Amino acid sequence: MHSQDHDRIFLSPPHLGRHELNYVHKAIEDNWVAPAGPNITGFEADICQHTGAVHCVALNSGTAAIHLGLILLGVGADDEVLCSSFTFVATANPIAYLGATPVFVDSEAQTWNMCPLRLREAIEDRIRRGKTPKALVLVHLYGMPAQLRELLAIADEYGIPVLEDAAEALGSRYGQQALGTFGAVGVFSFNGNKILTTSGGGALITNNADLAQKARFLATQAKDPAPHYQHSATGYNYRLSNILAGIGRGQMELLDDRVKKRREIYTWYQRHLADLPALRFAPQEPVGSRANRWLTTLLLDPAHTSVTPEQFRQHLETRDIEARPLWKPLHLQPLFQNAPHYGGSVCADLFERGLCLPSGSAMTEDDLRRVAGAVREVLGVV
Ligand SMILES: *Cc1c(COP(=O)(O)O)cnc(C)c1O
Repeated sequence: MHSQDHDRIFLSPPHLGRHELNYVHKAIEDNWVAPAGPNITGFEADICQHTGAVHCVALNSGTAAIHLGLILLGVGADDEVLCSSFTFVATANPIAYLGATPVFVDSEAQTWNMCPLRLREAIEDRIRRGKTPKALVLVHLYGMPAQLRELLAIADEYGIPVLEDAAEALGSRYGQQALGTFGAVGVFSFNGNKILTTSGGGALITNNADLAQKARFLATQAKDPAPHYQHSATGYNYRLSNILAGIGRGQMELLDDRVKKRREIYTWYQRHLADLPALRFAPQEPVGSRANRWLTTLLLDPAHTSVTPEQFRQHLETRDIEARPLWKPLHLQPLFQNAPHYGGSVCADLFERGLCLPSGSAMTEDDLRRVAGAVREVLGVV
């Protein structure tokens, strides 16, 4: 037998409930195995109900949702699109698909999301150089609400439409309102590592009926209304399958539970590791908001430890625990080395010092203790 008497603790594995299979079963029984059917409409209705959005279009990935969302906002070749630098690459890749240029904006220290001061600086500078940015892609990283009041006011002042990348933020709120519903378009991901999953999937939400209709049209190969297949626009094959939407329906029943559990995990780590001055947990959300705490994130304070995030990660790996660095800022990625950026040192510093701890909603108290024990070992305070 292997010397370890425990299983690997993953960062954020899928966590299925008891009803997903019923929806999938029904889809197969009724032969709804195409990218159309009752699970899709049901899943979309569930998302609308939970978020308060008027329209939802279920898609086969969050990346596809961002791509279509940018098209809906009019982004095309040679446009510039403002984008958070501190995010996963999927936020910005669709900007490149369209032949547009991302303009990266740094984070602020409170939420780790886009800095309103840097946003204004970026917009004014791009205008001075001759181009008003065509759209703004705002990310709520790790489920933490960005400073929406300030950011939206600036975007509004310059007439720049907002796409909210809420891929990591399903179930988070700013005030009483769900993230994803503040911009002209909002995006969720149901990839395997997210707070809910359809194995792979995404959704676009909007309150604008024309935009929703256009998203459906583009997601299904842009078929003109004609009995033969006629096309006058470039379309995509981006719809979610009715089988996967069945998984989504079962998962949506669990959203409140999953958010509650992720938040408890964050609080548990904070409480049980509070005596370690080397650890700085991700800040509290803006007053009146609720972060879903998709992942518990923290920074190592170099004033209190010489352990680097990579040493920390590697030590947890020896205990069969998966930790991960924070996202590497996009303005530092070789892929985007020629893209303009405004600020950058705040998110670069977060990346240098930060880590994500295992945060899966199926974690047990024993799992949490194992992680906390490994953290104490690596910081030399066993
Ligand atoms: C996961 C993720 C995406 C992409 O979603 P997929 O469903 O994996 O295509 C986009 N943005 C952020 C911030 C993400 O974390």
